[in-house]
Amino acid sequence: MKPFVPQLVYIEPKALEFEQGRILKDKFEKMGLEIRETTSHNQVRNLPGNNELQKYKNAKSTLVIGIRKKPSAEYAIPLATGCIGHCHYCYLQMTLGSKPYIRTYVNLDEIFQQAQKYIDEHKPEITRFEASCKSDIVGIDHLTHSLRKTIEFIGQTELGSLRFTTKYQHVDHLLDASHNENTRFRFSVNSQWVIKNFEMATSSLRKRLEAAKKVVEAGYPLGFVVAPLYLHDDWQEGYKEMFDEINNTIPSKHFSNITFELIQHRFTKPAKKVIQKRYPKSKLEMDEEKRKYKWGRYGIGKYVYQKDEAQELRETIENYIHQYFPEARIEYFT
Ligand code: SF4
Repeated sequence: MKPFVPQLVYIEPKALEFEQGRILKDKFEKMGLEIRETTSHNQVRNLPGNNELQKYKNAKSTLVIGIRKKPSAEYAIPLATGCIGHCHYCYLQMTLGSKPYIRTYVNLDEIFQQAQKYIDEHKPEITRFEASCKSDIVGIDHLTHSLRKTIEFIGQTELGSLRFTTKYQHVDHLLDASHNENTRFRFSVNSQWVIKNFEMATSSLRKRLEAAKKVVEAGYPLGFVVAPLYLHDDWQEGYKEMFDEINNTIPSKHFSNITFELIQHRFTKPAKKVIQKRYPKSKLEMDEEKRKYKWGRYGIGKYVYQKDEAQELRETIENYIHQYFPEARIEYFT
């Protein structure tokens, strides 16, 4: 897929007090993009579109340049909020509510200072940061390079480590960053069937794996997040083909340092409603009757697969991993 180019850019005037804000404004002007002002990145109004669905779609190609007001960096390092992808099951649909537009934050130095403070407080332990809690940061980083700067910042720390997950192939500008092996680059992967039916506006499996190969050859520790594991017709074959393709693409000398994270599909009742509204033709199976209910925080429980189905899923996938990548580490199944 082509690298993302926003259709519309908003900028908070205060963002121009930061170098990163000025760089981005200049860049987008040169690209000939429409740039509007917004008083706050939390209140972008008047997004184009005649109805809610159109507005939602347009929001996902709108980039807002703002300042992270409280740049706390504890576990989650806040570089961006929102994503260009249209994955039907994406949890951001719930966490971002009515603000699905993409925000990039320009006060990176403040964010890094907070991160450093957090690292210092936890000495001599290693402090782990996650950069993709509220976005798929790689999808927009070819424009902003804030992830690259973060990788380099964490690279020069002794006790910081960074990780993130992506479904995008646009990694070229990250390959020569001084990462110092402090960053684990994780790709979210799935069977072709799941990608085709639910992961619109993301890179194909082939492209993700080609990017994974580049990344591991650039010395980054590599991981795969297989999520959501989904029971579709011929899922055993679908996932086998996926592992086969990973195995054929990544050079075997890197297998021993690969991690796998396994997450079965789940949904909540409120998420189901939103998904049905935004992606009314989605084939995503969300039948409460067929699932097992798990109590959750704030009284919102989630629906996962029945115990025997989850068990079969887990055993099958773990077997594939043992078969194709005997030395790799399975972090968890959930
Ligand atoms: S790529 Fe990730 S963050 Fe983006 S829409 Fe898909 S699931 Fe959500």
